[in-house]
Amino acid sequence: MGGMSMAHPQQQPGMQSPPLGAQKQQQRTRRAYAAASPVQNAAPMGATGYPPMNSGAQQQGYPPAPSAPISGPQTFVPGAQAPAPVPAPGSPYGRSPGDTALMQNPGQAHYQQQQPPQQMGQQAPYEPPKPRIDPSQLPSPIAVHTRDQEVYTSEPYSTANKTYVPIVSTEYTAVDEGNSNPRFVRLTMNNIPKTAELLKSSHLPMGMIVQPLADLAPSEDPVKLIDFGEEGPIRCLRCKTYINPHMVFINGGKSFVCNMCRHENDVPDDYFCNLDMMGRRLDREMRPELRNGTVEFVATKDFITRAPTPASFVFAIDVTWNAVQSGMVAQAAAALKSALYSGLGLPVGTKVGIITFDRSAHFYSLSPLLDQAQMMVVPDIQDMFVPIHEGFVVDPLESRHIIEPLLDALPTMFAKNHTAEPVLGAVVQAAHEALRARGGKLFVFQTALPTFGPGSLKQRDDAKLHNTDKEKALYEPQDSFYRDWAVKLVEEGISCSLYLFPAAYMDTATLSQLSTVTGGELYSYPAFEGGRDGQRLVADLRADVNRTYGSSAVLRIRTSDGLRVDEHYGNLFMRNHVDVELAGVTSDTAIGALLQHDGKLDENQDVYFQAALLYTTSDGQRRIRVHNLAIPCTTLIGNLFKFSDVDTSMNLVAKVAVTEALTTPLRSIREKLTDQCVQIHTAYRRNCATHNSPAQLILSESYKLSPLYTLSLLKSPAIRSGADVPVDQRVYHMCLLRQFSVRKSLDYLYPTIAPLHALSDTEGATDEATGKFVLPALVRASYPMLDPAGAYLLASGGSLVLWLGRQVSPSFVQDVLGVSSLEAVDINAHELPELSTTLSQKVRAIAERLVPARAGYANVQIARQGMDRAEVPFALMLVEDRNNDNMSYVDFLCAIHRQIQIETRPKENRQEQPKWSYNS
Ligand SMILES: [Zn+2]
Repeated sequence: MGGMSMAHPQQQPGMQSPPLGAQKQQQRTRRAYAAASPVQNAAPMGATGYPPMNSGAQQQGYPPAPSAPISGPQTFVPGAQAPAPVPAPGSPYGRSPGDTALMQNPGQAHYQQQQPPQQMGQQAPYEPPKPRIDPSQLPSPIAVHTRDQEVYTSEPYSTANKTYVPIVSTEYTAVDEGNSNPRFVRLTMNNIPKTAELLKSSHLPMGMIVQPLADLAPSEDPVKLIDFGEEGPIRCLRCKTYINPHMVFINGGKSFVCNMCRHENDVPDDYFCNLDMMGRRLDREMRPELRNGTVEFVATKDFITRAPTPASFVFAIDVTWNAVQSGMVAQAAAALKSALYSGLGLPVGTKVGIITFDRSAHFYSLSPLLDQAQMMVVPDIQDMFVPIHEGFVVDPLESRHIIEPLLDALPTMFAKNHTAEPVLGAVVQAAHEALRARGGKLFVFQTALPTFGPGSLKQRDDAKLHNTDKEKALYEPQDSFYRDWAVKLVEEGISCSLYLFPAAYMDTATLSQLSTVTGGELYSYPAFEGGRDGQRLVADLRADVNRTYGSSAVLRIRTSDGLRVDEHYGNLFMRNHVDVELAGVTSDTAIGALLQHDGKLDENQDVYFQAALLYTTSDGQRRIRVHNLAIPCTTLIGNLFKFSDVDTSMNLVAKVAVTEALTTPLRSIREKLTDQCVQIHTAYRRNCATHNSPAQLILSESYKLSPLYTLSLLKSPAIRSGADVPVDQRVYHMCLLRQFSVRKSLDYLYPTIAPLHALSDTEGATDEATGKFVLPALVRASYPMLDPAGAYLLASGGSLVLWLGRQVSPSFVQDVLGVSSLEAVDINAHELPELSTTLSQKVRAIAERLVPARAGYANVQIARQGMDRAEVPFALMLVEDRNNDNMSYVDFLCAIHRQIQIETRPKENRQEQPKWSYNS
């Protein structure tokens, strides 16, 4: 394989060599560990006790040479998982509350037994044993998720259970019994520490991710809408908390005590109700606001700054030479047509407008009274205005006979357009003018750095800065034009979805201000080719346009006295410290909040949270959606660990990391992320697992996946080292982590890999008894886990790869791809052919299943083992292997363990220990 670097002796199959500097660094690091641990780690870390992987060490480089059989994987049954631990007695949720002990130094006797026969009785150089790690015992998301799914497959989840919450990827039906469904709000810990000191000693992050308009499962009750009339919903007079199930009625029902600030409020006469013997209102069951954690109120006039109108979506499509030639214009037009007129269609009441642009901007009158669209060109982009007053935004169904032919014609209309330099800045100004006073959303399709007209940017990428502490300058906007206009868009309730198609540097950092400030989203398609990437664009745009949407939103998070929100994270704008302004909000919008103590909490009381979102629905209704949580307070550090939520924590940690990357070198961010992981597990070790031998790595049950997720985050293009990550790509991935929901960040941090070659009758189809789709047992993200005689689908973020082992059976290839041999497979095909075989149907059903967030599935990339270049990016997604300038999962766990041992040693023995110095 051309361009691959030389193999490293310890290299495992399926691994790309890190750059030389990084190798040196890793070798140095290994020596450091070896010095620190003569008993355990003198063996190369890459070889640490992972016999199946070691046995492939003779193989050189990646992809594995066809002649070298992979000897390791055969000892594994692909897809086989460690048996789930038996649920502990008294644990109603089937989770073992115990610890995970992973490795143990064998004793001296054991060491002697391990000596090769020829060394017995000789003065052999001291070669300590390798710690033996059973790979099946490494904490695995698959085992954890499978076990959680089993709990909720047959039984619903009651939100009255405040401490155990389903894992975000689990399919569950939540019954709202006073706490919000975890789809809306997830906390990083479901026990709140009484004091700041307790939190600090755990090193755990304390915060929440709010997804205020998240989609509910079809089996769940819709959110109840309540109209309190002109007076509006009942609120605490002092702190403005909205009425909720956790407010306590007293004085025979004449007063209520606010659950946040303890203020005693009078009950308005028309809201009075008698109390029962338990002190609860007799009408409690009749009133959703006293029963449900999540409700929606009709907003009163006080919350209406301008007349709410139905949403208007304006699509602005770059039609310069590159845009047309790459196929972007044709695909964007097709995607738009599909989004408007098939499937779910636009949110209720939404209107549509279309702009095209190159060095000038073109507006279209789409009035239903016309026979065809009329184009008007504004050539003077320095003085932008919208030349159409009526018919610029229209009902897409009324004007379907105008819009469809226009979209069909766009690619040919501009086929001979030789201009370059699409004038993005002028388009933003025009959209601002067109949508002013009505709000809405701007969808921009841009293929190049804007170098002409208002908002022109300079080419400032500098390879000399890459992989240095100064690289962060490139993550900052180069000037304030786009941020200033983004703020103006926010003021008018206009959000922006930015679709970038970089063929060369286009300063994503500066342009992405349009989406990050306005509550929008960023999409990126490097080196776009219509044939290859068109499907993904269609799927992305459909999902973007068709989902639940609101505008002119303000989110406010309230907490019990004693806590406060320290910082908010996500695509948002803030004028003060409490109100999160979201020009647009969708079912995917996820906002992070880092919490802090500003006093002591009462461990005898629950701690309360209320996230209230004021917004305008797509059909122009002003609403307040309120999410409530009541969570126990604790004085025990063990409970903090026991009830922590690692997926939510990692989402928040990633959001904080990419935000800090603007001001802190990535090198420091990487060190901090690793150190945080070490400190958390050290705290657990020190406080909750003191009885175990230091030779054992003890991980808290609920947090045991944090090393794997931390490693994966370190390997992400947003954070990883290496000068080979183009800065646009880095910034794009930072934006992803900033905007991701917990579900999406989990998918991003650990790919889903489904084996396809041994499906049982029930797998790959919907179980008629339960109505649930049955996936085959998933496989861990590690090359040695893949069977060369197998075939697998890998889904990670927007990527879907079909990997075909070298020895996969010809009948599989025939049944799924319609050709007789591996050699005959068309690797340029980007869809799975629709064959009539059962296997083809099952594989396509699994493919759709693995990318559930999208309308269809993304384009499929085929990678044949040892044959295709596409195997390289595929292997880089296998986060448990050594790749992406970083360690393997096993090595990382060993390194974490070593550091924990150093941290937990008595102080006097800790001198001269190497500082944590892994990969910089
Ligand atoms: Zn209050």
